[in-house]
Amino acid sequence: MIRNGNYYEYTGCIHIHTTYSDGTKSVEEAAQIASSVNLDYILITDHMTVKARKEGKEGYYDGTLVLIGYEHNDTEDCNHYLLFGTGDVLPSDMRPKEYVAEGKRQGALGIIAHPDEIRPRLGKYPSYPWLAWNAEGFDAIEIWNQMSEWMESLKPYNKIKMVFSPRKFLQSPSKRILGKWDELNKKKKIAAVGAVDVHGFPYRIGPIRITIFPYKVQFQSLRTHLLIPEKLSTDIAVAQKQIYDAIRDARAFVSNCRWGDASGFEFEARRGSDSVVSGGTLESCEGARITVKTPGRGNIRLVMDGLVQAETYGDFLEYVPGQNGLYRVEVFKKHKGWIFSNHIRIGV
Ligand SMILES: [Zn+2]
Ligand SMILES: [Zn+2]
Repeated sequence: MIRNGNYYEYTGCIHIHTTYSDGTKSVEEAAQIASSVNLDYILITDHMTVKARKEGKEGYYDGTLVLIGYEHNDTEDCNHYLLFGTGDVLPSDMRPKEYVAEGKRQGALGIIAHPDEIRPRLGKYPSYPWLAWNAEGFDAIEIWNQMSEWMESLKPYNKIKMVFSPRKFLQSPSKRILGKWDELNKKKKIAAVGAVDVHGFPYRIGPIRITIFPYKVQFQSLRTHLLIPEKLSTDIAVAQKQIYDAIRDARAFVSNCRWGDASGFEFEARRGSDSVVSGGTLESCEGARITVKTPGRGNIRLVMDGLVQAETYGDFLEYVPGQNGLYRVEVFKKHKGWIFSNHIRIGV
């Protein structure tokens, strides 16, 4: 945790599988690895089970807060959805529209998982895209899922390279999904998170057996940084609400830690005595000013309604917005995605 403007910034990883489903580490092992790389929190999401939570595994492990939701899928194994805070696993025969609505009714946090998988559904590595865009009541979407980006770029000719240096292949969230996310936000606030989707699968190439994406490697890639007004409580129920509310409210930015620790990144819009960060709203662009600070140099782009409004190379950008719209920031290092903010809404 660090101080970030008027907030405390907590950095963690979202979408983690354990031995409660098809992951290869236990909750305790995953927590210990997360703590060893200084993550403030991790969100565990095994397939169709909250057994770990029922067994009382939520809590602080060496300074890392572990919270447990689960990953719901439909009867066709599509439309994966992360749910946090439901009483139990929802019925497995529900349609996506129904489990999204029911999660909302129960006050749970709902995140659409890896919506952007477009490789074929059949074959050795089937895709699990989100198709049910008519569902209503989800809070957030994964704009960047490490596992799915890797799978999407896996080709027979690059397989060996990709297995041995998996993080090298992370480019950035796709234009398609960023466009979709911008579009969704015109109707209502939908937050963006990054997801590691870690399993730690063993993988075989001829005689060699290696683990692609070990937990430790994953925890040093796609991170979601949350801005919380007060320090996280030691009371788990309170801390849980603080984390889930920060995601719901989009007080968050996503980073790929491989290109540098993004802690301390600031994206702020001010107007008179009003000052807001990602997730916030300013009444109008009149008299407003936007500032961006990055904890290292990069190519900073300020995007409004999908269009680049200002761009610079450095660690600071200041901009006077001439029109109302949904503003967000993308930072690249050597053409690779480093930091992606959530939106600040100005006059909309
Ligand atoms: Zn999934
Ligand atoms: Zn998953």
